[in-house]
Amino acid sequence: MKAHPTNIQADRSARILSISWNDGKTTTYPFDGLRLACPCVECKGGHAKMGNVTPPSVVQNAPNLGIQLENLQAVGSYALQPLWSDGHSTGMYTWELLRALAPVDSEQN
Ligand SMILES: [Zn+2]
Repeated sequence: MKAHPTNIQADRSARILSISWNDGKTTTYPFDGLRLACPCVECKGGHAKMGNVTPPSVVQNAPNLGIQLENLQAVGSYALQPLWSDGHSTGMYTWELLRALAPVDSEQN
């Protein structure tokens, strides 16, 4: 079964994105870390590196970049596309990627 979000909440004062999943898990991401993990070609430095996923520890402990979430758009029913305060908006964060970017205890399947 593929996990998909049941609730997505952006806390703009704490600068944290929280996602509740249909399997009962909740994952949270600091905006700075999410921005850092942007999966687009530009941020990943070329197609060859596009498969590389930023480790959850890096996302969770990202340096304070002061990044704000300006807008958050759903892409079909499989991804989120954030607009960041630095003007960047080409990253599409699939559910799969979002799960890979957060520490989730004992998942599998
Ligand atoms: Zn990007």
